[in-house]
Amino acid sequence: MIYFDSAATTHPSEGAVNAAKNAIEIYGNPSSVHSAGINAKKLLDNARKAVAKALSAKPEEVIFTSCGSESNNQAIFGLAKLRARRSKRIITSDSEHPSVSSPLSVLEDEGWEIARVPTLGGKLDMDFLQAELSKGAAFVTIMLANNETGAKYDISAVRKAIDKSGCGALLHCDAVQGFLKVSDKREIVKNCDVASISAHKIGGFKGVGALYVKSGVRLAPYIHGGGQEGGLRSGTENLVGISAFAGAVEEFDSNVTSHISELYNYTVNLLSGKDFVTLHIPESHIDSILLISVPGVRSEVMLNALNALGICVSAGSACSARKGVTHAMASFGLSKEMLESAVRISFGAGNTKEDCITLAEKLEETAKRLKR
Ligand code: PLP
Repeated sequence: MIYFDSAATTHPSEGAVNAAKNAIEIYGNPSSVHSAGINAKKLLDNARKAVAKALSAKPEEVIFTSCGSESNNQAIFGLAKLRARRSKRIITSDSEHPSVSSPLSVLEDEGWEIARVPTLGGKLDMDFLQAELSKGAAFVTIMLANNETGAKYDISAVRKAIDKSGCGALLHCDAVQGFLKVSDKREIVKNCDVASISAHKIGGFKGVGALYVKSGVRLAPYIHGGGQEGGLRSGTENLVGISAFAGAVEEFDSNVTSHISELYNYTVNLLSGKDFVTLHIPESHIDSILLISVPGVRSEVMLNALNALGICVSAGSACSARKGVTHAMASFGLSKEMLESAVRISFGAGNTKEDCITLAEKLEETAKRLKR
């Protein structure tokens, strides 16, 4: 099988698997005070240090959660609860992941005003953002990189716009796709007050995430109970998954990032100038996601045809795959024809140049065979 769907989830890395094997033996509860608990707590502390280091954050600024979706929900509801007295407005983009856009819709139903910044061509409309900020906001939530188009949004420009407005809004960023894949690894902590990340997009396991919460920033807890994770996220920590997350972070270093960039450029070269395909390359993008369209062949038809040849790609994000919703692509400005024939290629550590050649050949053969 040739797997080009690492934006949906990645193959667990060796570092993650080894760390998990070790953690299985350390079965104490990190909150227990006996030696089994102390050993587990040490493992948890080390994992927190590793994830914090990858973010250039302090260990106490990392809160482990059960996934990127939980991190986003915790950030949004946690900020909204504590900041409602300041303003009942939130500014976001029009192409966020459902784990951001859905909680915002819940708040909208409860009377909050949500302003959605257009992202035509994969670029945040900064004039729109600045105008919205002048009306005040409790917080801004904008993703680092889009999961359907690969567009990278300029979070430092968002920070500057917030500071310029003087409205005092906090900045949350869904950094699930961008974490470790953007060139400036310090970009998240330099600009955000709160940020969400997820283990399974970088070689960790599904069902593990984290929230970066800058020192001094207050959030209302979303899951209440035993007060784990500094009181912000109750529930006994998933030590095996968290240890694997740390192992994955340590392995997903600059080698993986540069390998992915090489494959991205290689594939773009293979497909450029071919008349059967249109490449949708945002001016600023992460190199793990390449969005293309094969006009005349519906996405799901191409997907199934490639799948039959042993190649996994996607028609958009995994969570929209069964619903046929590709709202980020529509916000990007793709025409109906391009939307209906869109294919997302996403690269991972395990892909090779040979995989890219096979993909390009099979795409072309399939396009010629199936074109209406
Ligand atoms: N945010 C973005 C941009 C994503 O791509 C995803 C997953 O695809 C998530 C959030 C949700 O992460 P998780 O699958 O860990 O809940």
